[in-house]
Amino acid sequence: MNHGATGPLVWTAKVLTLFPEMFPGPLGHSLAGKALENGVWALESVDIRTFARDKHRSVDDAPFGGGAGMVMRPDVLDAALTATAGPPGAPGRGRAIYLSPRGRVLDQELVKELAATPVVTLLCGRYEGVDERVLDAHGLEEVSLGDFVLSGGEVAAMCLIDAVVRLLPGVMGNEATAGEESFERGLLEYPHYTRPSVWTDGQGVERSVPDVLLSGHHEKVRAWRLAEAERITRARRPDLWSRYEAVRKAEGLNVGKQGRRRGPKPE
Ligand code: SAH
Repeated sequence: MNHGATGPLVWTAKVLTLFPEMFPGPLGHSLAGKALENGVWALESVDIRTFARDKHRSVDDAPFGGGAGMVMRPDVLDAALTATAGPPGAPGRGRAIYLSPRGRVLDQELVKELAATPVVTLLCGRYEGVDERVLDAHGLEEVSLGDFVLSGGEVAAMCLIDAVVRLLPGVMGNEATAGEESFERGLLEYPHYTRPSVWTDGQGVERSVPDVLLSGHHEKVRAWRLAEAERITRARRPDLWSRYEAVRKAEGLNVGKQGRRRGPKPE
């Protein structure tokens, strides 16, 4: 797969939205923006409203069964999704996702999967959401940002794209840092410090950088960072911590069996 500016398969996000003018928005800035400009990835925003067929260009209607709010119409969304796929032989719509609070919660594992998928189509809902039948008819996967309700899928789509784009080759200035980040080893990240090494806060308290980070001793720095990452994960995320411990135990057993498995040493 070629992510290069001239390659035929640049990672592409196709976003179906009632608000195409929201894009690229924040994605047009900083790392993602530069990468977009350099052709490392491509963005196609599709205005759902252009697929409305009645004279009022309506894209939504009242819910059957009653209740508050409006529902996005299946016929309009179907036309938009079908057009997005393009003619046979075109790269198509790739993995097709409806951003929705009912979906699988986005995590770094899914982000990595999507980064390895050349085309991702993202349907952004508004109002109460979309007619269920269009999800079934198009086999849309549902992906959520978390257990809260947004007013529309656009911000969720932007988050997903941002997380994917920074994983594409050539986007991050220092790709070596990627392997160290939160979630990479199933741990949250260790704390960071920069100059000045002693900083006086607003209350006059002198706050120093941990000595080990100034020691120049790489092995000790590495061990301190791992210990901090473990401490923070254990304190803040029992869910991640129990998974990490299980992996560590399994790897510990494997060290005995296979002799040379990499990973944290058993205690
Ligand atoms: N009635 C729906 C919420 C609709 S919010 C419910 O109770 O589940 C309107 C749109 O915002 C949704 O169609 C979806 O596209 C988007 N959205 C809201 N919360 C989201 C979340 N946590 N993750 C991803 N998309 C979300």
